[in-house]
Amino acid sequence: MAMQDTFELVEVGPRDGLQSQPTLVDTATKLAFIERLVDAGHTRLEVVSFVNPKRVPQMADADEVMAGLPQRPGVNYIGLVLNQKGFERAMASPLQQINSVDVASDTFCQRNQGTTSAAMFESISLMAREAQAAKRFFGVTIAASFGCPFEGVVNPDRVVEMVQRYVDLGVSEIALADTIGVAVPSQVSALLARVMPRLNGIPLRLHFHNTRNTGIANVYAAALAGVRVFDASCGGVGGCPFAPGATGNVGTEDVLYMLQGMGLHGTVSLPAIIETARWLEGPLGSRMPAMVSRASPFPPLAASA
Ligand code: ZN
Repeated sequence: MAMQDTFELVEVGPRDGLQSQPTLVDTATKLAFIERLVDAGHTRLEVVSFVNPKRVPQMADADEVMAGLPQRPGVNYIGLVLNQKGFERAMASPLQQINSVDVASDTFCQRNQGTTSAAMFESISLMAREAQAAKRFFGVTIAASFGCPFEGVVNPDRVVEMVQRYVDLGVSEIALADTIGVAVPSQVSALLARVMPRLNGIPLRLHFHNTRNTGIANVYAAALAGVRVFDASCGGVGGCPFAPGATGNVGTEDVLYMLQGMGLHGTVSLPAIIETARWLEGPLGSRMPAMVSRASPFPPLAASA
């Protein structure tokens, strides 16, 4: 890999990570977390989802979070939308980026979003056209791209076909998500070999959960395939709504440590993320699952003279 080769991490801890915490996290803590992440060098963060607070109580303070976001040049915030109502809230919000979610499994789509994948595509098509007309960034995540908690194995043909549809729709970015953390690296390589030639210039982002300890290996496989944008959560905070007790997204510090060690360059400071992951254990009252923030620094810090 060339030394000038760069990567981008999208920090999803404030949304994907905190959403599955068993106890409600207050707005001040969320904003303190986001401020630390921005100070650490993150330029893109998924911060809220526009969902019914009765279904996702952790996101009930989305308006307060948005009002308190640190405004810095070059920093963009993402809001997640699952339906037209959420989309309208996002369009009326100051967030720079909107991301919606389709699912590569009908049962999961029904349970998570109350509709079929085909209906979701119709709905997303309307959102995408409206966002395009308003010149707003609009991305789509294909959830359960590597496996479904209800149907099991997901046929890669289906994922490839969905990618093609969203490429044809001209969305701003496509993300493939291993929502329940079941993928293995060979599966990632095989799917990317089919997906990447179809992108037609549309950026691709990968979203892995470390539920079965294959998350970082999957990031490695995707990096070798040429992917340079990854979702990660500081401390690996999070869980999986379909796997009680499971760990969360791949840890930002773990992904950073590996990609930087491979000679790739990003904007985020590893020591600052380690510090933030350790800080987060206070307000959440639990140990973070990511590994690098638990280990001693390497290379060792220079001893003071
Ligand atoms: Zn996720």
